[in-house]
Amino acid sequence: MPKAELHLHIEGTLEPELAFALAARNGVTLPYATEDELRAAYSFSDLQSFLDLYYALMAVLRTEDDFAELADAYLARARQQGVRHAEIFFDPQAHTARGVPIGTVIGGLSRALEAAPERHGITTRLIMCFLRDESAESALETFEAARPHLDRITAVGLDSAEVGHPPSKFREVYRLAREAGLKCVAHAGEEGPPAYVWEALDILGVDRIDHGVRCLEDEALVARLVADQVPLTVCPLSNVRLRVVDQLADHPLPAMLDAGLLVTVNSDDPAYFGGYVQDNFTALRDALHLDEETQRTLARNSFHASFLDEEVRAAYLKEVDAYRAG
Ligand SMILES: [Zn+2]
Repeated sequence: MPKAELHLHIEGTLEPELAFALAARNGVTLPYATEDELRAAYSFSDLQSFLDLYYALMAVLRTEDDFAELADAYLARARQQGVRHAEIFFDPQAHTARGVPIGTVIGGLSRALEAAPERHGITTRLIMCFLRDESAESALETFEAARPHLDRITAVGLDSAEVGHPPSKFREVYRLAREAGLKCVAHAGEEGPPAYVWEALDILGVDRIDHGVRCLEDEALVARLVADQVPLTVCPLSNVRLRVVDQLADHPLPAMLDAGLLVTVNSDDPAYFGGYVQDNFTALRDALHLDEETQRTLARNSFHASFLDEEVRAAYLKEVDAYRAG
């Protein structure tokens, strides 16, 4: 099924093989002897235990070529999974903090993204995320450092450890981003409460909510999200792996669809969470018995929720309607 992926952290696509290859090339020692040993470390108890490993592995990403290879490897996999359009997050502060200039990160990623239509048949957008467990000042500095590169960036986002870091902390940098003509998204309502989703909508003025599964705890919030058709980029396998839900069969996605929410399915950090986007669709189909029409609705939603131009969006929607399994 043709689909768009709208919630994908490029750093979260770093597979063990590429991590070891880049470590060897850059002379970085990983705290794991083998790829299998590293994979065994991918059993997380919560968001923080995942983030600790995630940031440790990023040490292998140094040069523009490294970032280009990382993005190209994701795009090749995404195409295998039916992705026709990808809106890709990156975390500049996770790299600048290690001494990698922001221009190196954006240069490498955009090189791969610009080649993607021809190489992989995928259109793309780039979304620059701020780490919410860093200060508001650090986000502002990051935004200013990125200013010369804003022509390559479609939106800003907010990620990393959610609880204790409400969206309102980043009011100022989002105001600047909107002034600069960028779209805005934010992770909210994954581990954090529904109040964070309200803040993302009313204080940051976001166009989409990333995750948002906890909105179901607040009826008025659901009504607002439905009325405005605010897209939610839900990541089912991530929710299981990070214990937002105990098992996929308990996932609130069917309830979210029934409530009339504009839900999309995405892979979040697929190298760490056990699957790319089609793997998420397949796992949902098996655990929740989603029929083909529901899957088609989710695919249609992904293009409706994207930042594509209307003409391209319409062409992709036609592909979804024409698709027949088999
Ligand atoms: Zn995420």
